[in-house]
Amino acid sequence: MFYSPIVQRGAGPLTVMPRSFGVAVQRPQADRWIVDLGEDLFSRRWWRGLLTLFALTASAALLAPGLEPLPGGRPAPLEPAQLEQWEALAIAPLSGGSNTGLQMLETAAVEPLTSAPQRTSVSLFATLGAGEGIARMLLRSGASAAEAGQTATLMAGAGRRIAPGTSVAIVLGEQLGGGRAVREVSLRAGLDLRLTVRRDGAGLTLVRTAIPVDTAPLRIRGRVGDGLYWSLRSAGASPEVAAAYLQALATAVEVGSEVAADDRFELVLANRRAASGESVAGPLLYAGLERTAGAAVQLLRWPIGGRMAWVDAVNAGQPAQATAGLQWPVQGRITSGFGPRVHPILRFSRMHRGIDFGAGWGAPIVAAADGQVVRAGWAGGYGRQVRIAHGGGLLTSYSHMSRIIVDAGGAVRAGQLIGYVGSSGLSTGPHLHYETIRNGVAVDPLSVRFASVRPVDAGEVQAIKARLKALLGG
Ligand SMILES: [Zn+2]
Repeated sequence: MFYSPIVQRGAGPLTVMPRSFGVAVQRPQADRWIVDLGEDLFSRRWWRGLLTLFALTASAALLAPGLEPLPGGRPAPLEPAQLEQWEALAIAPLSGGSNTGLQMLETAAVEPLTSAPQRTSVSLFATLGAGEGIARMLLRSGASAAEAGQTATLMAGAGRRIAPGTSVAIVLGEQLGGGRAVREVSLRAGLDLRLTVRRDGAGLTLVRTAIPVDTAPLRIRGRVGDGLYWSLRSAGASPEVAAAYLQALATAVEVGSEVAADDRFELVLANRRAASGESVAGPLLYAGLERTAGAAVQLLRWPIGGRMAWVDAVNAGQPAQATAGLQWPVQGRITSGFGPRVHPILRFSRMHRGIDFGAGWGAPIVAAADGQVVRAGWAGGYGRQVRIAHGGGLLTSYSHMSRIIVDAGGAVRAGQLIGYVGSSGLSTGPHLHYETIRNGVAVDPLSVRFASVRPVDAGEVQAIKARLKALLGG
């Protein structure tokens, strides 16, 4: 056993502790020979310690058995041909002149094939690209030019425009010159029709498979609760439909103050549902609100003067008024309402003369209604600003834009793109600051109703009533 000595210095006799046990063992004689060479340099005791060290080292060297090579076999040196093969298979730096990756020549065991094997059929899916016809899509999928052309002609016979992005299932057969024969090409030409070109005994033929489509409108109902927008969303309305509903409602009531938590909303959407399960939701057809205080709102989407507008169906019996309504200028939610607030940059309370819509950088901004652009350019803290005069002393103003695409003096239609959301001027991030100004005074945009486009005549009133009855199921 070997003790690695640890010498403890102290007032008492020196103590050597064997490291392996951690238990102090008293060795009174050891201090004569085992000495801390860092202590009492060149004293008699130090020299004796040094002598001990040399004596121990020398005896260890004398007693050591020495190093001998271990007995074992040696591999035979490689033949030059073998070495070449090994080099080709091994990974070695190319800079060292290695042959790594070289192909080896075939040996006598390799026989050439008389004919290459061929897959008898290929099944694949392709997506119709934008501006690409059926023929070109088949050609790039590996069909022969003649077969691709014939299939495209048959498909065109169905008289449907096939939308880019349509997924096409293709089965190709044996190789002809320059491509494969077509066995089957199948695609969805719309919600209600599947087209298949199939090869039978006579050649390629077109098969039309009609898919029944249910056009019953979709109805969404619910309670307003804490927030109308989120209640609409949780009742199943998409963000677009919820925004369209709020826009419609804003033509009849002040959404900001006149809607209560216990009011109940009702929406009817155009909807097409295929028997195979897919459905496509169409535009909002009806926007209703049953109010706890105040008259119920029933708005019907109705063409007026060649454009779709919201018609008040409740009052359709009396000399009815059609309300064109202000469009929402941007798709986004209101992040700051109209009224006094602490300005986020200037840090003092001031009147917020408009409403802020939170929207991403570059979101499109549209004109809220028909009108004439009276300002398009930089407006101090408002940054890039557009102002539109709508007649009747009403102006709308759009600020902090990143880009303006209309010119002052030009006419704009409701819903026309006028620029993009940005953060120009005094602004903390991309948003749209939207103001409505009536006769020079800023008013709450949610309170503005663009009323009376033109009265609806008696015949139309009947049609509106009938439509409403049909939509709401009588
Ligand atoms: Zn603002």
